Amino acid sequence: MNFVDLRSDTVTHPTPEMMEAIAKAKLGDDVFEDDPTVNRLQEIAAEKLGMEESLFVPSGTMGNLIAMLAHCNRGEEIIVGDKAHIFRWEGGNVAALGGIHPYVIPNQANGTLDPVKIASAIRIEDVHLPRSKTICLENTQNNCGGVAIPPDYFATIRQLAAEHNMTVHLDGARLFNAAVALNVPVTDFSSQVDSVMVCLSKGLCAPAGSILAGRKDFIYTARKLRKMLGGGMRQAGILAAAGIVSLEKMVDRLADDHHNATKLGQELFKIEGIEAGMKIPTESTLTNMVYFKLSNELPISPEKLVERCEKEFQVKIDPGSYRQFRLVTHYWVTDEGVERTLEAFRTILGSI
Ligand SMILES: *Cc1c(COP(=O)(O)O)cnc(C)c1O
Repeated sequence: MNFVDLRSDTVTHPTPEMMEAIAKAKLGDDVFEDDPTVNRLQEIAAEKLGMEESLFVPSGTMGNLIAMLAHCNRGEEIIVGDKAHIFRWEGGNVAALGGIHPYVIPNQANGTLDPVKIASAIRIEDVHLPRSKTICLENTQNNCGGVAIPPDYFATIRQLAAEHNMTVHLDGARLFNAAVALNVPVTDFSSQVDSVMVCLSKGLCAPAGSILAGRKDFIYTARKLRKMLGGGMRQAGILAAAGIVSLEKMVDRLADDHHNATKLGQELFKIEGIEAGMKIPTESTLTNMVYFKLSNELPISPEKLVERCEKEFQVKIDPGSYRQFRLVTHYWVTDEGVERTLEAFRTILGSI
């Protein structure tokens, strides 16, 4: 029996079409900018995102870090949400490697940063103060329920940044999920920011790699920074070939993942002992994540639930923290997988 793996959409392995594209990929040395498959991926990505150029990077974390290093000098400041991936899950890299100072403000329940709070975080010019350089946004906002944030918000922040001579970076690890959920072109977001990072290796199923996109001069600097960080790869067309399939074939079908997450959430919340882990996104802003909390009254530990799901139903879930769980749907989670997951929860929680 196959596992249903809901721990993340990062667990997606390449589709059969990707394996075929990988086998046939024309290769070169990408540090010489000589790999035709990487070059093609970068052109396609720049075009889809409506940016002048793009750069293939080994990971989303490196893409975000490169963007921060390109936008800010040492001692300068980014404004970032307390639930942002850049702040929470990237090892403090902007501070450790870039000498960049994060000014952290709270994410609101809908995933956004309050423009009034951003405005009051922007520093005046004063000898005592770091210089405010970049506003970091995230869409979809992973830690706020994987919620999709609509384009008009990005227009507001762009305006605010322009008034203060600041840049805007979008951590769009799952930006295509946001575009599909809200049924808008992805350029509605990317056209409002100076730089954007998108992951190919999550719901889009590529084995590895992300895209960083922006203006031509920004990408020139980004390429240098990627080299400095050790991210210049050689015959990276092996990976880029899968990335091309991601962008051309795997975007529209993200709607299936959103549909499965909606169904999973709706049925899961009917089970006694399962509580919504946070404000549930409305149907149009929900993407491929379901957050829930295991009620404190239920006499089962998160570890035991995880163990039983895996042993008895071949359903893999992440134990999360403080009895809060996140389930993530993706290409390899079928209708049967959703049914099996619900069956696992109903059986286990009904029997304790
Ligand atoms: C996964 C993720 C990243 C980092 O991507 P990696 O490829 O895992 O380094 C950045 N931001 C968000 C919102 C993510 O979900």
